[in-house]
Amino acid sequence: MTPQQNGAMPEGGVIFSPGNSAERETGSWRVKRPVVEMDRCTHCMICWMFCADSAIDAAEGKFLGFDLAHCKGCGICAVECPAKCIDMIEELTLQAASTEEGGR
Ligand code: SF4
Ligand code: SF4
Repeated sequence: MTPQQNGAMPEGGVIFSPGNSAERETGSWRVKRPVVEMDRCTHCMICWMFCADSAIDAAEGKFLGFDLAHCKGCGICAVECPAKCIDMIEELTLQAASTEEGGR
């Protein structure tokens, strides 16, 4: 069985077929997560244009949020956002906060 058949990451991360991101969730690679201050978003869609992973959710010309199953946390959206309403937050910080909240 080849690595592609059993779903394992192929040696060297070589991609053998195009358009396979729908099957492969890359969000677990992320060290930092984009977090938006929604009330400051102007829906300019600059983040959507720059995101190389098509990880910006949008509908009818409006920014809706991030597809965290595919966002790799590169931070390009935060750098390019003209409103500066995206912060890149450490995943471990967010996970610790959510565990703490769940424990209360
Ligand atoms: S770039 Fe910033 S202001 Fe523009 S849609 Fe994205 S989050 Fe909103
Ligand atoms: S952090 Fe990178 S991959 Fe994630 S939404 Fe922003 S530009 Fe896309």
